[in-house]
Amino acid sequence: MKRYFIHTFGCQMNVNDSLRMGEALAGSGYQPIQSFEDADLIILNTCAIREKAEEKMISALGRYRAVKMSRQALIGVGGCVAQQEKDKLLRRAPYVDFVFGPDAIGLLPEILQRVERGRARVVETAFVDSEHYVFPRADPETSRGKVSEFVTVMKGCDNVCSFCVVPHTRGREVSRPFAQVLAEIADLASVGVREVTLIGQNVNSYRGGISFAELLLRTARIPGIQRVRFTTSHPHDLSDELIDAFRVERRIAPHFHLPVQSGSDRILKKMRRDYTAVEYLGRLEALRKARPGIAITTDIIVGFPGETEEDFDRTFALTEAVRFDSQFSFIFSPRPRTAAGSHEEEWGGMPREVKIQRLERLQRLQREITGQIMSAQVGSVVEVLVEGRSKFNPDRWFGRTAENRAVDFDGSAAAGAIAHVA
Ligand code: SAM
Ligand code: SF4
Repeated sequence: MKRYFIHTFGCQMNVNDSLRMGEALAGSGYQPIQSFEDADLIILNTCAIREKAEEKMISALGRYRAVKMSRQALIGVGGCVAQQEKDKLLRRAPYVDFVFGPDAIGLLPEILQRVERGRARVVETAFVDSEHYVFPRADPETSRGKVSEFVTVMKGCDNVCSFCVVPHTRGREVSRPFAQVLAEIADLASVGVREVTLIGQNVNSYRGGISFAELLLRTARIPGIQRVRFTTSHPHDLSDELIDAFRVERRIAPHFHLPVQSGSDRILKKMRRDYTAVEYLGRLEALRKARPGIAITTDIIVGFPGETEEDFDRTFALTEAVRFDSQFSFIFSPRPRTAAGSHEEEWGGMPREVKIQRLERLQRLQREITGQIMSAQVGSVVEVLVEGRSKFNPDRWFGRTAENRAVDFDGSAAAGAIAHVA
């Protein structure tokens, strides 16, 4: 048996893609291995969302080169950087054997055959259009023993946010037919999975035969499934129907990740986000009315080209007003082939120190808010879906509340059970 090692960068979508790669490789006689030093095949599943992610993958590639030299391992690069760079990557890294985009995961066995037989270098980065795209089906056996799993419901993105590379690396939106999604979840439930997170770049524009709200409701009714989550959503197509689903179905977990990106309407317009700060706040108000206590989290970009101190103050004020449970905030990173990336200086680039200072101010505020939200929980009893032993201390247990807050606790418990933790 030959052995493979996959290094995954970036988002949950990539983590899921890596699992599908593993399944495709198992069919070609490969088995996974924990240490790359002994691998016959090394795959880097890459992320292009920010420059830093790309730099990390280039430095990892350098490390793997030595293994190639010592034991003739094959090296493949998949994911978003592969899609973006295509054959340029082969020129940039002459020791890379093959490059494949996110739509070519199912072709891995064939790509490997071509590489192994001909010792030829292969580039496979065509997009598969909506009619012909087949979502790789997860093997439920690989989920046995897990309490929580991710299920892909769509790929690609039809939005054109001016900072974002995803439409170029993941192609047009394609929704997975609802019957396939529900069948996969039923299989997962039958091997013990209790919580599923439906994933896609923009899940609430799902069009797989039923509305996204209906998909959530049907998922929640699958025997064995106790909690349903999803990510990520775009504020401009957050429908009333979806908000209502939170009111009627308790198994839809009370947590909503809704990236706002900025609190300034002027910047939102330049970002091509299609909503105003007031509209965003209005959606949250409706959500909080439908499900009091719902946890809200977000993504924010600071230092977008042309962002003035006043624009940033609006983002700061919005964070204070919403009181997010947590946020992922990032410094704007210019990306190839994006409007904001190509016009950074024209639109108003700024010194890096200004960006860092803004990010630090915002993150300091968020830490205070998160601390206050968590302190308010002291003394209450929370329902935790137990996922297994704690990573930090094997004598303790780990799980999450319905709001997606992580909890480590002592006592007796079992994976998959609900524990009441004080
Ligand atoms: N589809 C999701 C949405 O529209 O909100 C976001 C998906 S993206 C993979 C995750 C986050 O990365 C975005 O919400 C954004 O905050 C951040 N991001 C994307 N492009 C960026 C860039 N050029 N610079 C900095 N952060 C970026
Ligand atoms: Fe990128 Fe915007 Fe699509 Fe999200 S909605 S993936 S930020 S283009």
